[in-house]
Amino acid sequence: MSLTEPSDAGAGLPPQPPEDELLSFTCPRCRLEVAELLYGPCASCRTTLRAVVGGEARDVEETDYVPKMNVTPNAVASKD
Ligand SMILES: [Zn+2]
Repeated sequence: MSLTEPSDAGAGLPPQPPEDELLSFTCPRCRLEVAELLYGPCASCRTTLRAVVGGEARDVEETDYVPKMNVTPNAVASKD
C-alpha cells in the first residue's frame, strides 16, 4: 500500500473555515440578520434564552444529583 503517506492526510476533507469567519444568517428566533460564529439564536436571543431557560433549569440543579469525578477505576477493567 502506498496510499498511507502522511502528506495526503486530510486531502479528502473539506477545508476548515477560519475561526474568526462569521456566518451571516437570519436568526431562527427573532428573524434578524445576524453574523455569528455558529448558526443559532443571535447574541440577543441567547441572553434572553439563558435567562429564561437558566431560571427554569435552576430547579433541576437543586436536586440531589451531584456529578462526581470518575476517580474510581472500573472494577472490570482493573480486574487482572
Ligand atoms: Zn435573535
